[in-house]
Amino acid sequence: QGEVTATSVYSAKIEENFPLCAKNMMNGLKTVHHLRYQARQQLTFFLKGIGMSVDDAMQFWSDAFAKGGITTEKFNKEYKYNFRHNYGLEGNRINYKPWDCRTILSKPRPSRGEFHGCPYRDWNVDKLTLELSQGMKLTQTQVNSVLDNVERTEYTVACTKVFEMTHGGSTNVEINDQTHISHPNLYYERSRQLQK
Ligand code: SF4
Repeated sequence: QGEVTATSVYSAKIEENFPLCAKNMMNGLKTVHHLRYQARQQLTFFLKGIGMSVDDAMQFWSDAFAKGGITTEKFNKEYKYNFRHNYGLEGNRINYKPWDCRTILSKPRPSRGEFHGCPYRDWNVDKLTLELSQGMKLTQTQVNSVLDNVERTEYTVACTKVFEMTHGGSTNVEINDQTHISHPNLYYERSRQLQK
């Protein structure tokens, strides 16, 4: 069994390596005990990419939905096929790759009550500022620097800066081809590596 299981995925050790998009979907799931289609897709592929097995994925989703009153029977009938499909076990058996930021940013934006997408693009400035300053403990200067990129629609640059700032980097982070993070799974892998 890998380190990312149906239960360990909730541990700080794993979750603190998540980029904001993944954190946002996990928080949505923990709050409403359900996620709509786009977030189910985005989060399953992300979790698959960080090593969650198909068995653990079934467990993870059915447990999370059960808290919202979705019975095992309903889960098996309405959701299971789709999750198994995402693992390439049903239908055309395509082994889907985890979505990169470009793919995530190309999907329809979340409407109210939806949690997919990229928070750097989709959250309003107040909500994002609160997360950056209180959630991630960035300084005002750092927050402003990230918001500058957001304003220029450079979402992956904003995200990379946040990575550097929350992983011991300085405020004046130089983003180049080596450091630029354009995939949520790369964000996770780099963070996990530094944690070890
Ligand atoms: Fe996720 Fe990419 Fe947005 Fe970062 S830039 S929050 S990794 S979609």
